[in-house]
Amino acid sequence: MEKKNSYWSDIAFATKSLTKGLALTFSHLLKSRKSRSKISIQEEGYFDHQSGIATVQYPFESIPVPDHGRYKLHNEIEDCIVCDKCVKVCPVNCIMIEPIRSAEEFGKTSDGTSKRIYAAKFDIDMGKCCFCGLCTTVCPTECLTMTKEYDFSTFDITDHNFPFGNMNPTEIEEKKKAWDEHQKNKMTAAPVVSNPTDQPTSAKPVFKPRIKPPQQ
Ligand code: SF4
Ligand code: SF4
Repeated sequence: MEKKNSYWSDIAFATKSLTKGLALTFSHLLKSRKSRSKISIQEEGYFDHQSGIATVQYPFESIPVPDHGRYKLHNEIEDCIVCDKCVKVCPVNCIMIEPIRSAEEFGKTSDGTSKRIYAAKFDIDMGKCCFCGLCTTVCPTECLTMTKEYDFSTFDITDHNFPFGNMNPTEIEEKKKAWDEHQKNKMTAAPVVSNPTDQPTSAKPVFKPRIKPPQQ
């Protein structure tokens, strides 16, 4: 008798859970006719607008990214003073700079800072970058910034190395030569500094023994 009861209660339980599951599936099916709204997570009542469960049709449509997100880096090279701070602070060494010094100021950045170093090379390897944002916070001229570009996937990882330098090989060679020349001229024009310990013989202190020589 007990077995018979259990048989019917199992069927009732299975029917109930099947109905519940199908109801949930159908409710999702109905909701999926509506796509998620393309509003930024920073918008007021973001979650109230997320009744649709179908994702947005990326890349034909996309959700706006937050203003202070960390995405692809950009260096406005005309405003870069090649100070090397970003290189020093980067925890994964993904910024590579080749500086060439100039004998004189050759321009100013948009905020009026003097430019005295050329960037023969300014590469950022976004394949190594951990998006910590430290380089952007130390940059004195604010030329290094995070853009809103997040989709820069490639088939070849070496394509993640982004060069920002804008000098051609001839210019690089010229600037290097000019600096070497400047250094050479400086060396030849520099006055010969005498060793302060080298004093004329006459000025040398005369040693006078205080001990009397023994009497004969
Ligand atoms: S965001 Fe961080 S890891 Fe990326 S380049 Fe800047 S300092 Fe380096
Ligand atoms: S910290 Fe800024 S100004 Fe200095 S080298 Fe880096 S990008 Fe250029």
